[in-house]
Amino acid sequence: MINKKVADILYEIADLLELQGVAFKPRAYTRAARNIESLKEDLAEYYDGDRLQDIEGVGKAIEDKIIEMIETGKLEYLDKLYEETPKGLIDVMRVPDIGPKKARKLYDELGVEDLEGLREKAEKGEISKLKGFGDRTEEKILRGIGMLEAVSGRHLMHEMIPLAHEMIQYVRDHADRIETCGSLRRWQETIGDIDILATGDTEVIMDALVGFPHVEEVLARGETKTSVRLIGGIQADIRVVDSESFGAALQYFTGSKEHNVRLRQHAIDSGYKLNEYGLFDKDSQEKVAGETEEAIYETMGMAWIPPELREDHGEIDAALEGRLPDLVTTDDIKGDLQMHSDWSDGRNTMEEMVREAENRGYEYIAITDHSQGLTIANGLTANDLEERMEEIEHVRQNTDVRILNGIEVDIKKDGSLDMDSHVLEEMDIVLGAVHSNFAMDASTQTSRIKEAFSTGLIDIFAHPTGRKIGEREPYALNMNEIISAAVDHGVALEINASPVRLDLDSLDARQAMEAGAKISIGTDAHGIQHLDFMKYGVGVARRAWLECEDVINTYHYEGLMKFLEGRKNG
Ligand SMILES: [Zn+2]
Repeated sequence: MINKKVADILYEIADLLELQGVAFKPRAYTRAARNIESLKEDLAEYYDGDRLQDIEGVGKAIEDKIIEMIETGKLEYLDKLYEETPKGLIDVMRVPDIGPKKARKLYDELGVEDLEGLREKAEKGEISKLKGFGDRTEEKILRGIGMLEAVSGRHLMHEMIPLAHEMIQYVRDHADRIETCGSLRRWQETIGDIDILATGDTEVIMDALVGFPHVEEVLARGETKTSVRLIGGIQADIRVVDSESFGAALQYFTGSKEHNVRLRQHAIDSGYKLNEYGLFDKDSQEKVAGETEEAIYETMGMAWIPPELREDHGEIDAALEGRLPDLVTTDDIKGDLQMHSDWSDGRNTMEEMVREAENRGYEYIAITDHSQGLTIANGLTANDLEERMEEIEHVRQNTDVRILNGIEVDIKKDGSLDMDSHVLEEMDIVLGAVHSNFAMDASTQTSRIKEAFSTGLIDIFAHPTGRKIGEREPYALNMNEIISAAVDHGVALEINASPVRLDLDSLDARQAMEAGAKISIGTDAHGIQHLDFMKYGVGVARRAWLECEDVINTYHYEGLMKFLEGRKNG
């Protein structure tokens, strides 16, 4: 279904027009978007039948735009709107709870043109004096600005990792050795630039890089370093170093800064000096390692530390004491425990999801469509679930992949579940999730979730904090209490692998593991291509020091069943 995608773009147009202070038109776009969203039939069918204008609110102008989107996958009008709207104002609009109308008002009445201006007015307390802006808003606005600034100039993993890998593939044949470094190699949840390190003939490597098809502009080309701007404004830097120093440079440019500071101190304490060229004996100045990272760590008496752990969160001591974790890898993953089919808001049929799971070599998947209360996602009633069961039975006959009959059930405001308990008891797997009433205070929100756990019906608590990176802050929550309730009730906590969520984040996931909670890494796929998000979830899990036994979807089918049943009987 392309309905959601088209509707989202129409909403975006409405927002930009509203921000520009245009009258009436925004409402027309919003109305068309809403109607398209609630269509049962695929918009493509309307297009094929030449009956787009049958949709309420779609006149000639909007019809033309829908056709352009369907035929070209782009919309010139949207690009034009972005071009003529000041970037700073768009940033202001994106602050949670502001939106286009309030952003316009802030501009008209206080002259706010960008985030800096907004912060100034919020700090001076001028915003709460405006009509329609409450007292609490200023505090919230300041937090929202902080969140946006934290991600500004940074990109989500799924924008960066495939692009970096494509670039490496492209340059690889021209280099002797080549590797990504920086935050990308550490699988940090957002990434600034693509940093690449290589050895070989500098001229040849730089020429190859500059010829990479996604390069839009060469920013600087030097003796050892070239910087380019790629599509989407992403910057990539490539450095060419001597092969005797490759390991030292890789270690140095991978970071993090905190890890490197600690490691250099350890080098000094052990009679060495460490820099980007190598590890040197302090007295003789002789180079004792540098060609490989492994040799550098080993010479200093410790095991090689996986990049995901290099944050100065105890990894150096663990490496010295030989107790680094045996981190989970994508190869360990046996199945995916969160995905949506076209029974709710997924784009693909169950059959198509299963084929993709087969391609990935999975043993099992859970189909976890939304429950009825989530009408915007076409949530399922008990009746729908019965009908869906027939399709599951049918698909099961043609595959070796075990299909778990699952649901992502809404946790309601009072902590009760959005489906009768006898229906949930019949399911193979139940994910509980919060999709509404985000604005509660921490203790109310925590009680709500604990109440849901205490029903004994939830196997996995999905996207536990509700955050969306750069879009929505986590709801207020007492994480310690949630983790200990999860341990008490045997509920697994999810690392949602969707790159905009990555929820739990690595710090919370590590805390959960240390407290004895189990983790499920689920992609929350709404289409077959999203099953590929698993690697981002695994990246978070590795940053959280997780091993296979901590992650229930590394278990073989029987092991997973044992976990689920043990939970129900315990
Ligand atoms: Zn959800």
